[in-house]
Amino acid sequence: MKLHEYQAKELLARFGVPVPAGKVAFTPEEAKAIAVSVGKMTVIKAQVHVGGRGKAGGVKLAKDANEAFDRASDILGMDIKGLTVKKVLVAEAVDIAKEYYCGLIVDRNVQSYTLMVSKEGGVDIEEVAANNPDAITRFAIDPIRGLRPFEAREVALKAGLEGNINKIASMMVGLWNTCVGVDASLAEINPLVVTTAGDIIAADAKIDLDDNALSRHPELMAYRELEAEHPLEVEASAFGFAYVKLDGYIGVIGNGAGLVMTSLDVVARVGGKAANFLDIGGGAKADIVYNAVKLVLKDPDVKGVLINIFGGITRADEVAKGVIRCLEEGILTKPVAMRVAGTAVEEAHVLLEGKPINIYPTMMQAATSLVNEVNAAGGKA
Ligand code: GDP
Ligand code: MG
Repeated sequence: MKLHEYQAKELLARFGVPVPAGKVAFTPEEAKAIAVSVGKMTVIKAQVHVGGRGKAGGVKLAKDANEAFDRASDILGMDIKGLTVKKVLVAEAVDIAKEYYCGLIVDRNVQSYTLMVSKEGGVDIEEVAANNPDAITRFAIDPIRGLRPFEAREVALKAGLEGNINKIASMMVGLWNTCVGVDASLAEINPLVVTTAGDIIAADAKIDLDDNALSRHPELMAYRELEAEHPLEVEASAFGFAYVKLDGYIGVIGNGAGLVMTSLDVVARVGGKAANFLDIGGGAKADIVYNAVKLVLKDPDVKGVLINIFGGITRADEVAKGVIRCLEEGILTKPVAMRVAGTAVEEAHVLLEGKPINIYPTMMQAATSLVNEVNAAGGKA
C-alpha cells in the first residue's frame, strides 16, 4: 500500500524524524487557512501516488496565504501522470542549501534492507541509478541489530554528504526505525534537506507499506484510499482475490500466483497482452470461480479470457460449474479458452461437454488459440 507524502511524514514524525510543519487541504480555502496558521512562506504540494510531482508542476512555493490559495487552486484538479490531484499538502517551506537522497528498500539479495544514500538528491533517484550508479552508496543493514548510528555516519561520509553528520545519521536511523516500525517495503526521504541554517529536515518522503504485514498495524488501514485504487481491485479484495489490473486485453484467471504469472508469460509469448492478473487461490468452489469470471468480464478492456487451472485442492469440476453458471447467466459472451488439469479433470470435461468453451490440453495451446482469435477479431486494437 502506497502512502501519500503527508501520511509518510506523519509516520516519520512519530519516530522522531524532523519534518516541516504542515497539513493536508482539499480546497484552496483550506490551503489558505493552513498557510495563515503556518505564518511563513509555504510550499503547496500535490498529493498523488506518483513521483516527479515537482517536474510536473505539482510543487509550488507561496510567499503568503493569498498565494497559497492561488497555488492550491492551480494544483488541485491538475492531472499528474494520469492521476487527478484531489488534495495538497500545505507545509512550511524550507530554505534549501543541499538536497540529499536517503532510502531503505527490502533487498532480497542481502536478505534484509539496503540503505541507499546519495548526494544527488532532489531528482528521481531512478534517474541517478540509471545514469550515475556510483553516485549511490549502498549499505546492507543487519536485520537483527538494525541500523546503528556509527554505521549511518560512515555511510553518510562515504556518500560525500556535507553538513551536520550526526543529525543526518540520526535522520537515517529514524528512517530505519520508521521503516521496521510500520513494516514498510520501501521508505525514502528525497530530498533530505540541509537548510541554509544548517538544520536537517525531511522535505519529501515516500513510504510503501507491506500489505502482508498490515494486519499488524490496524491503525494504518485508515490511510487506505479506496477511491485511489482501481474499482475492480477494491471489489476483488472483498472476495479475497489477488487481482491486479494490467494494461492489455486478455483476462487471465488461474489458481496460485505461480500459475497465474506463468499464464501472463504465456499470453505475452503468443503475442497477446494480459488485461489483469486474477488468482482464485486454493480450494475455490464454483461460486468463487463464478465471481472471478464475472469480475474479469466487468473490465471493458477484456476481449477474451484465459482460464488456467491446475486442480489440486481446487477441483476442476468446481471450476467448470462456476464457468457454466456464467454462461447460463449470459455473463460470458467473450471468447474463453480453458486449460484444466489435475483433480476431477474428467468430471470437468463431462460438465463442459457441448458448451461453447474451448478446452485445451496445455496452457500454450489455450493461450495461442485465444490470442489468435481475439487478435483476428481486432481485439488487439
Ligand atoms: P517530487 O518531485 O514528487 O519528488 O516532490 P518533492 O517534494 O521532492 O519536491 C521537488 C522539488 O521541489 C525538491 O527537490 C525541491 O527542490 C523543491 N522543494 C520542495 N519543497 C521545497 C521547500 O520547502 N522549499 C524549497 N525551496 N524548495 C522545495
Ligand atoms: Mg521528492
